[in-house]
Order: sequence, then structure tokens, then C-alpha cells
Amino acid sequence: MSLNYKNHSEKLDLIKKGEISLADNVRYFLKKIEDNKHLNCYNFVFEDAAEKADLIEEKIKNGTVGKLAGMVVAVKDVLAIEGKALTCSSKILGNFESLYTSTSVQKLINEDAIIIGKTNCDEFAMGSSNENSAFGPVLNPHDNKRVPGGSSGGSAAAVAAGLCDVSLGTDTGGSIRQPAAFCGVFGLKPTYGRVSRYGLTAFASSFDSVGPFANDVEDIAKVMNIISGKDENDSTSADIPVPDFLSGINENKKFRIGIAKEFFGEGLDAEIKKVIELKIEELKSAGHKIVEIEFPHNEYTIATYYVLTTAEASSNLARYDGARYGYRSKESGSLINMYNNSRSEAFGDEVKRRIMLGTYVLSAGYYDAYYRKAQKVRRIIKNDFDKAFEKVDIILTPTTPDCAFKLGEKTNDPLSMYLEDIYTTSANLAGIPGISIPVGKNSEGLPIGMQLLANQFEEEKLLQLSKQI
Ligand code: GLN
Repeated sequence: MSLNYKNHSEKLDLIKKGEISLADNVRYFLKKIEDNKHLNCYNFVFEDAAEKADLIEEKIKNGTVGKLAGMVVAVKDVLAIEGKALTCSSKILGNFESLYTSTSVQKLINEDAIIIGKTNCDEFAMGSSNENSAFGPVLNPHDNKRVPGGSSGGSAAAVAAGLCDVSLGTDTGGSIRQPAAFCGVFGLKPTYGRVSRYGLTAFASSFDSVGPFANDVEDIAKVMNIISGKDENDSTSADIPVPDFLSGINENKKFRIGIAKEFFGEGLDAEIKKVIELKIEELKSAGHKIVEIEFPHNEYTIATYYVLTTAEASSNLARYDGARYGYRSKESGSLINMYNNSRSEAFGDEVKRRIMLGTYVLSAGYYDAYYRKAQKVRRIIKNDFDKAFEKVDIILTPTTPDCAFKLGEKTNDPLSMYLEDIYTTSANLAGIPGISIPVGKNSEGLPIGMQLLANQFEEEKLLQLSKQI
């Protein structure tokens, strides 16, 4: 059996017509995951996933099924699912099992989606290559010598390799959009507050957002319809009406599309630049209005992002102390030594680097110079977006400065790794939504992603334009 549907609606039709059985479909994914073990996309596979299939198929046939009937979904291993392991691809959580299910995943389950496993990622979602994982790196399905991007590398690669229908990832500075670009799939980072963070392990709480990956933009819209909305368990979730993203997706609206030279300057790969410039020409011919905009503070986004997110991370990760849950060092001694040893032994290098950096920028003598200053710059960057969105509906940029790089290529150069996020972090600083869409391949056959950004709570525009493209 191979997959002969392009999105969930087609899959549902095939099931209704009796042309495929859902149980066979789930077993097909389980086998394919096993056959592609070398890609290392999954930390955990739920072998019993097919058990629910017959019941859901029954519900499909008698018309009582939920909106995501039989959609096979993989979930990044930073989201809690009751009774299942939650590792954040770190050793520090030991064999911790979640006591409850995150809201985003519970909403999928309530609509009869089938969760097939938990995907590999960078430790605590810190990274751009999925190489910072206690489970080892994920390989890019397009070229196994290359990284899939990160931190949601397993979720992006699983969709690209056809090891699930759809997946969930998280994006704090680009972790959905960048791996989507590297793997040639769609990845949407919603507005901050659009999707509940309840049950998402915190990295940088004022930046983190949960969003979907898919091979088809309609599936992105379908999942967004379900996971969006106010949640009593997350006070930062927004009480703003959720439009029907799917029914609006085919509207053939013409948009004012902003292009800023700051996103096309030094450091951008020439082939990516060419492909995206071609797309801009096509959009112009299709009747969209291309508007030059300015993004004067773009050069400060990476520094601001790394000051603020490491500060939040150093505080959020203080709870992993070996005392309450997860890994505890055998070399305990005094309480302080037990904390020290547990954290030293079980956190990876990148997480340690960020905890130290974050502790430093928050410390008494440096708070004003770094943390407070960065908060002010965050506001200025948000103001730049506010100004731009007075003139345009959507801002168009490359998603990444280059295509998927080789495993190990940037591991010893954190700065060059951080620069991977040069076009993506500003959306998180401003809390706005962004999508990466696959727009072509370079001469080596590696996918190229293009990013669209919209104002807060205007995901609908992103989906409409993505569909047109
Ligand atoms: N690559 C970025 C980082 O390392 C983004 C991570 C993310 O979005 N979770 O922080």
C-alpha cells in the first residue's frame, strides 16, 4: 500500500468509499517508521496506534466522527501526553511520564486524530539542526548527510518522509519554520497566544508557540481550526474568535505584499535569493501589489532574541534539579552537590550554555545593560512591524539564509548556528504569525523555503496566500 491521497479530506473520502482501511493505513505508517529508523525521527512510537482505527472507521461510516477523523499525527517530544514518556530529548527528565495531556494534543484526540508517536528534537527545543538531542541527530530525508533543521527536526522530517499525515512542533525563534524549509514541507507558527501552551514544556514562555507541519496547506488550516482558541489552563492564550481557516482558504484575494531589503542582504544564499525573487515576480503578475518596506532594526533581532530567551530559559529550567523528578546523580553528597551533579551530568552543552548566558544577563550588575535593554529593543522591533502592517497585509522573506547544511558543519560554531534564525526570530519577538512554504529546490536538490508573515491573529491571510502560491 502506498499513500494515494494528498490531504486529509481526500483520505477521508477514500475511507468512506471503502478504498482504504484506516487500520491498514496506520499499520502502513508503523511499518514505514520502522523501515526509516535510520532517519531517527521518532523518540517513541505508539505501537498500539492501530487499535483505535476500527472504532474511528466505524464512526466515519455512521457519520459521528470528529473533524480530524483518522488523521495520523506525530507530536514533538516537548508536549505532554498522559501516561507517555516526556523527555524534551534531554537526559535530565530520566523516565518521567506525563500526568496530563497538553491542550493542543487533547483537542486533536477529541476530534479523532490518531497520535502515532513523539518526535525527536533539539534538547528543550534549543537548536537549529536537531543535533542537540540525547537521542542523536535526525537525518534530512532529502539528503541523509544533512540536518533536517531544528529544533522541531523530527516533526518536519517525519512529514517530509511520509511517516505521518501531520505533525505538531513548537516555535520559539524559528523551530517550526526553519525545519519546514530544510525538509520541504509547510510549517506554521501561529500568533503568540493563538494556541494554548498548557502541557508544553517551557523554554522561553513569552516566545513559545505550538503549530503544525504538513505536506498540504489545507491540512495546516484544518489542524489550526482545532488547536486554536482560549484555554482556561493558559492565561496567555487569547480570547479572540477563531475564523474557519479551511473555508476561507480558497478565497482568491489580492494582497499588499511587503518586501524589505534587510531580508535579502549579505549572507543570503544566491540560489535561494533567485528562487524567491522569481516568486515575487509571479505574485506581481498574479495581481498582488508589491510594496517596499523598511525593517531598520533587523540587525538587532538575533542579539535581542538570545538575551531574552536565555534569560527566560535559565529561570524555566531551574526546576530540573534532580530532587523532584527525572534524573538524579549517583554522586550526590550534600543537597547543593546533588543539584550540581545532576544538572552537570544530564544537561547537554547547548542547554548549559544558555542557562549560563541567561543567568548572566539577569544578574544584578548586568540586568539593566542586557535584559532590560533587550526588552526595549523587543518593543522597537514590534513597532517596526506595526508600522509595516499599516502599509501591507503580508511580509515576504526567505525562511533561512541557506539550505540544509551538513551534519556537524556548524556544531563548533554557535554563532553561525544562531544566524540560521536571522529571518525567523523577529516574528517571535513581535508575537506575530509566520509560515514557511516550500517553493523549489536548489541545484543540489535541497528544498528552499519562503516565509510569509502577517499581523497578530491574521493567520488566515497567510493560509490564503500560501494556497494561491
Ligand atoms: N533555533 C532557535 C534556537 O536555537 C529557535 C529555537 C526554537 O524556536 N525553539 O533558539
